[in-house]
Amino acid sequence: MKIYNNILETIGDTPMVKLNKLTEGIDATVLAKVETTNPGNSVKDRMAVKMVEDAEEKGWIKPGGTIIEGTSGNTGMGLALAAIIKGYKLVCVLSDKQSKEKMDILRAVGAEVVVCPNDVEPEDPRSYYSVSKRLAEETPNSWYVNQYDNLANRVAHYEQTGPEIWEQTDGKITHFVVGVGTGGTISGVGKYLKEKNPDIQILGIDTFGSVFKKYHETGIFDENEIYSYITEGIGEDILPKNVDFDVIDHFEKVTDKDAAIYTRKLAREEGIFVGNSAGSAIKGVLQMKDMFKKDDVVVVLFHDHGSRYVGKMFNDDWMRERGFLEEEYQSANDLIES
Ligand code: PMP
Repeated sequence: MKIYNNILETIGDTPMVKLNKLTEGIDATVLAKVETTNPGNSVKDRMAVKMVEDAEEKGWIKPGGTIIEGTSGNTGMGLALAAIIKGYKLVCVLSDKQSKEKMDILRAVGAEVVVCPNDVEPEDPRSYYSVSKRLAEETPNSWYVNQYDNLANRVAHYEQTGPEIWEQTDGKITHFVVGVGTGGTISGVGKYLKEKNPDIQILGIDTFGSVFKKYHETGIFDENEIYSYITEGIGEDILPKNVDFDVIDHFEKVTDKDAAIYTRKLAREEGIFVGNSAGSAIKGVLQMKDMFKKDDVVVVLFHDHGSRYVGKMFNDDWMRERGFLEEEYQSANDLIES
């Protein structure tokens, strides 16, 4: 019989898919590591289970305990699956900029969801960083995951995602491109790939409104770089311990508007229904296309599923309200003129 003993065993072994249309004009082969086939529909299942197992080994969480985390949703989903199978309670603390779909999904898998304002400083007692820490202090037999600084996060990608990418490309990968939030994905995969071949370029996608790119290039944590933005899951106003700046060769910033437009293009032109940070990542690949040569193999990782964004970038009204549908008007005018 070909069976899995529980849903956690289905995590990983995600497909590598060649991109054909959006990447026309790029000489290199561009492949997408599509993480939506994980049971929680995102790459974060991998690190969520790894962090729970690490906490069990270290005795940080005991049977029947409560897992507490500040999460944009995807980590929460992975934690929820781990909590169900392993018998823990889960409290997820989210900021109010996260999509309603993400909150509803977390509730569907039994998590308690606490929503905090996004537009406050991390040190503010109302911020989701502060609220999750406080809840962890107040709840008996609880464990605060802290995906930003918990290094089991990047170890999951060093142990699983990196080797999968290396094997799926027969070691021919030359560039790895991925959105950076906690830094777990880029740092774990980047470390593994650089150990295999130090020439592989590790390229991080950042947002406008985030500190990463400037810090990487100057060593300066510049508060002027911090402002609100729309793209979910990537960019930060803190420096998480999981970001290993030494394995990252370059950061590329992508606008909210481009991220949204390219998320839609991935669905409509490649049939790959993925989330907002995937749109950022593929637009970043296009912005960096002069870096790639003919025989290069560029792997771009798509973090999560498009269903979580149907009320956002896949909704025309949402796009129009933000002035993101200009291209549609442009092409309508072109049609009228021709
Ligand atoms: N995209 C999405 C949708 C995410 O949820 C996350 C996790 N914050 C990322 C990208 C960034 O991944 P990482 O935290 O591993 O840097």
